[in-house]
Amino acid sequence: MSKKFFINVREFAIDGDKTVLQIARANGIYIPSLCYHPKLGPASKCRVCVVEVDGTRNLQTSCNLVPSENMNIATDSPRVIEAQKMVVNLLLANGNHNCLICEKNGDCELQDAAYHLGIELPAFQVKEFEPKDDSSAFIIRDNNKCIQCGRCVEACKSLVVNEVLDFGYRGGETTVICDDDKLMGQSSCVQCGECVQVCPVGALIEKKRVGKGRAFDNLRKVQTTCPYCGVGCQQELHVNGEQIVRITGAEHGKPNDGHLCVKGRFGYDFIYSKERLTTPLIRDANGEFREAGWDEAITLVAEKFKEIIKESGPDSVAGVSCARSINEDSYNMQKLFRAVFKTNNIDHCARVCHAPTVAGLAASFGSGASSNSIGEFKNAKQFFVIGSNMTEAHPVASYFVKRAKKDGAFLIVVDPRNHELAKRSDIFAQIKVGTDVAFLNGVMNVLITENLYDKKFVDECCTGFNELKSVVMNYPPEKAAEICKVPAEMIVKIARQMAAVKPTMLVYTLGITEHTCGTDNVMSCANLQMLLGNMGVEFGGVNPMRGQNNVQGACDMGALPNVFHGYQKVIDSESRAKFEKAWGVTELPDKPGLMIPDMIKSLPSKKIRAIWIFGENLANAEPDINHTEKCLASADFLVCNDIFHTETTRFAHVIFPAAAWCEDEGTFTSAERRVSLVRKIKEAPGVAKPNWWVFREVAKKMGHDWESDSGRDIWDNEIAPLAPAYSGIKFDRIQKNGLQWPCPNEEHPGTFVLHKEGKFTHGKGILKGIEWTAPAEVEDKEYPYILSTGRRLSQYHTRTQTGRSGMDLIYKRETADISIADAGRLGVKDGEMVSVASRRGAVKVPARVTDEVPAGMVWMTFHYRDGNCNWLTNTASDRVTKTPEYKACAVRIDKI
Ligand code: SF4
Repeated sequence: MSKKFFINVREFAIDGDKTVLQIARANGIYIPSLCYHPKLGPASKCRVCVVEVDGTRNLQTSCNLVPSENMNIATDSPRVIEAQKMVVNLLLANGNHNCLICEKNGDCELQDAAYHLGIELPAFQVKEFEPKDDSSAFIIRDNNKCIQCGRCVEACKSLVVNEVLDFGYRGGETTVICDDDKLMGQSSCVQCGECVQVCPVGALIEKKRVGKGRAFDNLRKVQTTCPYCGVGCQQELHVNGEQIVRITGAEHGKPNDGHLCVKGRFGYDFIYSKERLTTPLIRDANGEFREAGWDEAITLVAEKFKEIIKESGPDSVAGVSCARSINEDSYNMQKLFRAVFKTNNIDHCARVCHAPTVAGLAASFGSGASSNSIGEFKNAKQFFVIGSNMTEAHPVASYFVKRAKKDGAFLIVVDPRNHELAKRSDIFAQIKVGTDVAFLNGVMNVLITENLYDKKFVDECCTGFNELKSVVMNYPPEKAAEICKVPAEMIVKIARQMAAVKPTMLVYTLGITEHTCGTDNVMSCANLQMLLGNMGVEFGGVNPMRGQNNVQGACDMGALPNVFHGYQKVIDSESRAKFEKAWGVTELPDKPGLMIPDMIKSLPSKKIRAIWIFGENLANAEPDINHTEKCLASADFLVCNDIFHTETTRFAHVIFPAAAWCEDEGTFTSAERRVSLVRKIKEAPGVAKPNWWVFREVAKKMGHDWESDSGRDIWDNEIAPLAPAYSGIKFDRIQKNGLQWPCPNEEHPGTFVLHKEGKFTHGKGILKGIEWTAPAEVEDKEYPYILSTGRRLSQYHTRTQTGRSGMDLIYKRETADISIADAGRLGVKDGEMVSVASRRGAVKVPARVTDEVPAGMVWMTFHYRDGNCNWLTNTASDRVTKTPEYKACAVRIDKI
């Protein structure tokens, strides 16, 4: 029989270590509380939640009081009310709490407490006001409303581990400060907004919400999936009419547990931009765009594709799908190309990022996706993070790594740059760009030489050990060190550390894939984890962090030249027969199509005459912009679907205006294989339409009557039934949280960890010996620096979205990040202009002198047109997947 206790004479069961406050709340009994937050646990600071316990002298805080058997508790006795009133009155006196002019009016926990206690006017004198701090891009701090509950400080320290906020000064002067009492906009704050989400009052609020609607407007709350990176955070949109007033993290959403980063919380204005495309556009005889109706534009595209296919064959047309848009759009686009145009010339931007992941992991494990889940990061014992700038590219995943590290996990970081995670690591191996295979072979050499590898796992679950051994034996630590510039002793130390603590989660990003040896790098990571027996277990595995929000999904949906959706091969006659039957067509093409670099290269020669670019800004994102633009300009017919004019739409003959995130319902698939819902809150502007609709209408014009009439129809009736991995995922099942594939039937809970018990998708794991090869272009006398490229926290790709969401307030223009040593050698001060030139072009940008970059290296991004690193980058690409070598090309730097 369960033990009982009493609240206000009512009987309740004692529930493990649940506190009186938690049990009271769960049963509808309101006890005011301010410093307690479910995510942060009891703080017992504000003392508003005091209750009276029968038989004890002092009032006790209910947020940390675990009831004992037969305990009698009063939450509403005169003593309790008097004490609570006193605390709330003191808090009200300590600032300016004028509800009428406060954005938190109706959503404020101090207001709730005052109302509950019947306080109409503060009982004490109000202290002198201080000015608000509105120096940061997205957050207003109003210390006059701060009740010093400490939630924001604790959240900043312990939840997101950014460690910016703290209490400063003492006694009556105590206040929350940023860094050493800087204005927020001048501090190291990264504007993740976690502090805003946990603040119970109006001391920290979103700047963007001001004037857009208050809590008492009965804002609708809509859960959806973030439109930025592959973490796939669940957001709660607070919507007034069609206007997003603010975004909070969905507290029970997976994998983010309510956390967001700056882009996920504040990067939404782009959907309301006046620059949105609102009507189809056709280029007229004078070369100018004119507005057109849907029927005219769709007829023109259908007729033009028909004509070109008739003249030059189906393989003279090509398509690039969009990894930012929903799965259902990519599915319909590849279906249009395969079933209607009869070509496999369909690809998407995984080609410029994680195609080596798909190829490498499929070769090693039989499945080209992340083996484990982001939620596991929180409780992992050890991390091996290689080639990943996670704090900027996948911020919420990095919160979990930083938290695990605080809780005692061991963190090994391997990277050319000394970025934030490297600075927090236990071992930082500062590797030379493009030497990962040599480094990993060195580590595996030690594991085998010292007999530290998992012999049982290798014998029972893997093949190819002898071949792997014969190659890695050529990389003793000293030789590996010569190549990768990580000291031999450190290589040995890392190997021993990885053998000593099991399992390790291996995490990588584009630092591994964007090389001429990208697939080799991925397979080397797979080799290491198999050798250590770290596969098929929780808190282990190989975990590629996917870049764009739906790049996993676009791969899964078959926007690739060699597979239908669900990775069913186009060369396989059974797969073709299955899709021919389902789509009601014959003779689906059996030859894998062209990859993006080959599509682009084939435009001037007219091997490709028509290209359809959906949502991608190739003119800025592909390497060697001069080359890309020359090729795009030579297309006979170029079609774009987009939400804005971009550098790429300049080359279009027809532009279809597209529905954006929040304007259509469908699904995204995150880096951890989780299929989550994306919901609609507003209509697309003008006559813009969902992309799946555009592809369907072109198919219709060409005589194919596709039935599915919504994202839900397409997923439930086509995508799920036609691919075993998604069969159990249905829209009705993912209303609250997504499901991770494989999910073969509707009772299946989804798969958190792949390859369990060492059973790989294709049987045994394949170990493969891999020789190191140097980047295509290395430094020389004329070009003595190596340019490496990546992303910055507040911007996203070519800024079509973040550039219209206020993110330029944080990072305004491109810079060339160089080391302190090189700055000294070049005579360049921070902020001074430099020219960075490669064999392909030159840009002029301010230098950013930083300790993150090693001597001999310059680091830049492709966010801005002006100073875009892709004026410089090399088209040399991965031998298997043709992913360009964005991470290494030779450049010269000159002071201007
Ligand atoms: Fe969005 Fe990625 Fe930030 Fe999450 S971590 S809020 S998915 S950008």
